[in-house]
Amino acid sequence: MKKHIPSWHDDEVKALSELALGFFEREVVAHNEKWDAQHRIDRAVWIEAGKLGLLCCSIPEEYGGGGGTFAHDLAVFEAQGYAGDLALGISVHSGIVAHYILEYGTEEQKKTWLPGMATGEILGAIGMTEPGAGSDLKAIKTTAIRDGDDYVVNGSKTFITNGASADVIVLAVKTDPKAGAKGVALLIVDLRDCPGFAVGRVLDKVGQHGADTSELSFTDVRVPVSNLLGEEGQGFGQLMAQLVQERLIIGAQASGAMTRAVEDTVAYTKSRQAFGHSLFEFQNTAFELAECQTIARTCAVFLDHCIEAHLRGELDPSEAAMVKYWLTEQQCAVIDRCVQLHGGYGYMREYLIARMYEDARVQKIYAGANEVMKGIIAKSL
Ligand SMILES: Cc1cc2nc3c(=O)[nH]c(=O)nc-3n(C[C@H](O)[C@H](O)[C@H](O)COP(=O)(O)OP(=O)(O)OC[C@H]3O[C@@H](n4cnc5c(N)ncnc54)[C@H](O)[C@@H]3O)c2cc1C
Repeated sequence: MKKHIPSWHDDEVKALSELALGFFEREVVAHNEKWDAQHRIDRAVWIEAGKLGLLCCSIPEEYGGGGGTFAHDLAVFEAQGYAGDLALGISVHSGIVAHYILEYGTEEQKKTWLPGMATGEILGAIGMTEPGAGSDLKAIKTTAIRDGDDYVVNGSKTFITNGASADVIVLAVKTDPKAGAKGVALLIVDLRDCPGFAVGRVLDKVGQHGADTSELSFTDVRVPVSNLLGEEGQGFGQLMAQLVQERLIIGAQASGAMTRAVEDTVAYTKSRQAFGHSLFEFQNTAFELAECQTIARTCAVFLDHCIEAHLRGELDPSEAAMVKYWLTEQQCAVIDRCVQLHGGYGYMREYLIARMYEDARVQKIYAGANEVMKGIIAKSL
């Protein structure tokens, strides 16, 4: 069957996608036992990604980025999904944190943080979720109370991707704890020399074992007022606006993963024999794969539509919610069916399909649980 050529892949994006796939296979997948054991990927891998131009692809060149469009970043994230290992927190670093700073930062903030993020010398995280507030972001309790030229930050965050390794975090805080959503602000916090900041547990997860997903705490941490992103009270709107782009990232990873799962399972079932013929020759197996391929292809086409709309600046938030909800549901369903067609080998972590199965599950939860996505879609009807 002809491969799907995404409509947003021009020659340059296609070349970047191939470069990224080689990088993920060589630097991440090939060493996944090491990353799994340490729940973190070495900084040298980030530096290598920076050298290859895979970090901050859509950040303007004047801030050290690749000067491309968001299609360039998405090609990297889609290749990550296709490589079959979501452990490197590159989408949070390049696709989310760098974009908060680009979109809302002052000239000085952009010049301070973005060039180092593009080389991998500065690693970024985003701290929204707290033990008592995930989906309901306006309920966060971390406070940042003004004291002279500083904010004094107190609170804790959990499930933070890149949390234990990050140098900088965009932190959701309340500058006015009584004001609900209107009290939320975003602060850039330099974690490198940060009295009062502590890393709690690096969390043990169902999948994405190589990813650093951590608990963080802030006790009387002083952050200069000049590190505020935008203005006090704008944080909630900034989060909602950026989450639209974040949902495309998840869609791109899901699409890459589905494509790979089907390809690998076709190859596996054609090579393994049972009852005197290949597994693929069971009509059930072939029909399962025909259905999975149809799902993967139709998802890729809807993703193309959403990415094109985003590149034109016209992506509707409800469509972004659809792409996140639908593609992650299909990612989990398709990979589950592919595991089944692998038999017992599909349950062995030495097979990529088993790792893809573990990594996929959380895609339905983070960046807004899929039920929250349905709420956004329903509101638009
Ligand atoms: C591996 C991993 C990485 C993560 N990385 C980050 C990160 O880098 N930064 C960060 O800030 N956060 C991160 N998160 C947190 C993630 O965004 C939250 O887990 C997610 O938003 C859900 O919040 P919660 O876990 O508190 O669940 P809750 O808000 O308690 O929701 C639990 C469930 O309740 C249901 N529900 C909730 N709200 C609604 C609703 N409005 N309508 C219908 N049903 C609803 C859904 O089924 C939902 O799954 C990460 C999480 C994981 C697991």
